[in-house]
Amino acid sequence: EELIKLNLDLERRIAERTEGLVKDITKEKEIDRLKNQLISFTSHEFKTPITTLSGSIETLLRKDIEWEEDFIDEILLGMKDDIQRLEQLTSDWIDIVKIDSNALVLINEQMRIGSFIEGVIQGLKKPPYTEAKIVFKRCEASEHIVAFDIKRVEQVIRNIITNAIRYSKGNPTIFIRVYEDKESIYIDFKDNGIGIAEEHIPKIFDRFFHVDASRTRKTGGTGLGLAICKGIIEAHGWEIKVVSQLNKGSTFTIVIPKNEQVK
Ligand code: ADP
Repeated sequence: EELIKLNLDLERRIAERTEGLVKDITKEKEIDRLKNQLISFTSHEFKTPITTLSGSIETLLRKDIEWEEDFIDEILLGMKDDIQRLEQLTSDWIDIVKIDSNALVLINEQMRIGSFIEGVIQGLKKPPYTEAKIVFKRCEASEHIVAFDIKRVEQVIRNIITNAIRYSKGNPTIFIRVYEDKESIYIDFKDNGIGIAEEHIPKIFDRFFHVDASRTRKTGGTGLGLAICKGIIEAHGWEIKVVSQLNKGSTFTIVIPKNEQVK
């Protein structure tokens, strides 16, 4: 009986070890997959604006043709777009690498949620933000003071609002609402846009996922926005969720657990 017991114990321990090893290998494979994905993304996405930029420069440098001023302006504006695209790709890429290597450093400061949201909205004075109607009213729940990285969370909110405009059906309206229960504080961003089909919702925070790649490209998205938002929110110990209905609109929610960082 003693021997059977020992044997069972040994079997259990071997099973545990093997499970651990399998988990490590799966994790390594996943990291490899993400690395490869990132490399192919970089080479593919960066090449396009660089190729058009170099084409534009070649054109402007031609000595055999005297370009009209309007044409030169058009080319320069195109070059400006290409450079903006490269800047966006570079900063998104840096953010993703930081998130992957747990190197996202948060500089937390205490701030009242209501004042923070008002400040972010006030900063959205340039296109595309001027196309949207953004509605926010302070309430009891928005008077909580929370410790967080103001710049990073502002980045998340800008991204959610940019998406609400990018995936709108015209006349984008975004309702921001703060509410709470015993456990958490919630910030809702509700839009009246094109919505997301049920089968796409689980993939929405994955990197490089778009429902419609051509729409994303036309409107300047990199497919990394929501993956970065999720990384930033989770680094705070918070959560980000979405509920959506096709052709009706989407609601993105940031969930802030009530802990020692919340007053
Ligand atoms: P990108 O906008 O660059 O494609 P994101 O990670 O920001 O990348 O978003 C991923 C995808 O989620 C988008 O391509 C779009 O299909 C969908 N999406 C995001 N926000 C919204 C929204 N507010 N309404 C409808 N679809 C959205």
